[in-house]
Amino acid sequence: MDSSGLSQLHFVFIPLMAPGHLLPLVDMAKLLAQQKVKVSIVTTPLNSIQFQASIDREIQSGSHIQILHVQFPCVEAGLPEGCESLDTLPSMDLINNFNMALDLLQRPLEELLEKQRPFPSCIIADKYFMCVADVANKLNVPRIIFDGTNCFFLLCDHNLKKNKVHETVSGEEKFVVPGMPHRIELRKSQLPGLFNPGTNLKLNAYREKVMEAAEKADGIVVNSFEELEAEYVEGCQRLMGHKVWCVGPVSVSNKDDMGKAMRSKRNSGDVESEYVKWLDSRAPRSVIYVCLGSLNRATPEQLIEVGLGLEATKRPFIWVLRGAYRREEMDKWLEEEGFEERLKGRGILIKGWAPQVLILTHRAIGAFLTHCGWNSTLEGICAGVPLVTFPLFAEQFLNEKFVVQLMKTGVGVGAEYVVRLGEEHKSRVQVTRLNVKDSIEKVMGEGQEKEEIRERAIKYADMARKAIQQGGSSYRNMSLLIHHIIHVKGLDQS
Ligand code: UDP
Repeated sequence: MDSSGLSQLHFVFIPLMAPGHLLPLVDMAKLLAQQKVKVSIVTTPLNSIQFQASIDREIQSGSHIQILHVQFPCVEAGLPEGCESLDTLPSMDLINNFNMALDLLQRPLEELLEKQRPFPSCIIADKYFMCVADVANKLNVPRIIFDGTNCFFLLCDHNLKKNKVHETVSGEEKFVVPGMPHRIELRKSQLPGLFNPGTNLKLNAYREKVMEAAEKADGIVVNSFEELEAEYVEGCQRLMGHKVWCVGPVSVSNKDDMGKAMRSKRNSGDVESEYVKWLDSRAPRSVIYVCLGSLNRATPEQLIEVGLGLEATKRPFIWVLRGAYRREEMDKWLEEEGFEERLKGRGILIKGWAPQVLILTHRAIGAFLTHCGWNSTLEGICAGVPLVTFPLFAEQFLNEKFVVQLMKTGVGVGAEYVVRLGEEHKSRVQVTRLNVKDSIEKVMGEGQEKEEIRERAIKYADMARKAIQQGGSSYRNMSLLIHHIIHVKGLDQS
């Protein structure tokens, strides 16, 4: 590739402020910068604190990467001061305010980007950061979107929007998603919000607008790799009218323990090395890692069943407990039950933020009980461990299908329907302690079936690692993306 063309390029990443959207886009930005182009990541000062150290490290190793700041308009949007990320919203009633704050960023983003030299050649922005569509139009810069999911989901999403089969069935009735390479059977109650809207009309309208803006984008980058879902990648490329670049799994950009710990440093002190020390003392593939993501608002009743299920396995575990909903009740239960005391030495409870990629890739981890957010799912795939799937909301039930039915590297705990964020009070306990224990036992320990699941998981992890290496499919797609922008900008003519 012409080196003068490369030096004129400037890719600007604009992530949505939520861990499941921000972290993969930061990882992707680091990978792109390693291909010798200038990269900027735009976020708020508060959001940048968690990944600043990892960017400093990239700069030290020669990447041309920087963080640009915009101030989040909390007060103007009616949000509490410092509430700059979706996972910090004290109540889901504030989601419309959060979206308003994003919209208010249009002008500041335009002013910031106008000043940049080289002038931005491409914006890679989260699909849900809708005002970026107008920013890109105004500045006449190609806009590529990132929506945080995979091609399996994108194709399903495309087919359902077109075919609307879900509108002909009731919530509990099963239906087959049309136009998919495999037979995928679902219930309407398992679909994400766009197909299964809740009562927040403003949010529903916002989602519709996000969809319209996404359709007008110049392409889409996906945190996945071709070998994982070849038929679905091909289906998306053929049907969606978008260029699709699979450039993942991006978390693999964090290579050593230091890099993995720095990926998102939300804890003070050196807790990361404490977890590693504890894991070092455990037998290979003996520990269950449990984390339901950064946004979940599972009820104490449901979390208690998870805890007691873990205890019943008699196996070592690390349980990341977000406890964002009725937290005091959960804390009270833990205290009165003497849970931590009782399981001291065998189980570690992380109340808050865990260095997930660091923990997952430790050789002592034997299974991952996950809510099937796509990042966590893919991080589990990269770690080569079987998944125990407990989908909660969004497209997580589809990710579960992908892992359990197509990859055959996981086992479901038996969750049945989506609990929308903010509607936890309407939900009942879907998964009992026995469900938790039984599903874990299906992937841990001895037995031919378990061995086969593990072998498949290891095979996929190997494919994931190769995809991102020089010469691998995702590495090549990243180069193709750069080439595409060189071509669009006419830099290959000069
Ligand atoms: N994560 C983490 N520590 C935590 C919780 C989450 O590092 O304690 C990271 C996780 O590694 C993943 C992201 O946050 O990269 C969560 O994204 P995902 O799509 O799995 O789920 P979401 O949080 O958006 O529901």
